[in-house]
Amino acid sequence: MECVVCHCTDLNACQGGCYWIAEDLCSNCGVILSKTYVQELIDLLKTSGINSKEKVIIELQRLFEEVTHEM
Ligand SMILES: [Zn+2]
Ligand SMILES: [Zn+2]
Repeated sequence: MECVVCHCTDLNACQGGCYWIAEDLCSNCGVILSKTYVQELIDLLKTSGINSKEKVIIELQRLFEEVTHEM
């Protein structure tokens, strides 16, 4: 797998480590991206062949809320 945003892979993770929150999106990028960029991200994911749009949005929102709660 490879992240569509930062192009990290299982063997070459982001600095500090990351995990997959969607098929083509790592946790690091999910955290960095705010809700504002979700639509942009969805378009990116769509062009890369993912059609589970709702699933990605739900995952991103859940993660975003988790992160903002920790802060
Ligand atoms: Zn990434
Ligand atoms: Zn990553």
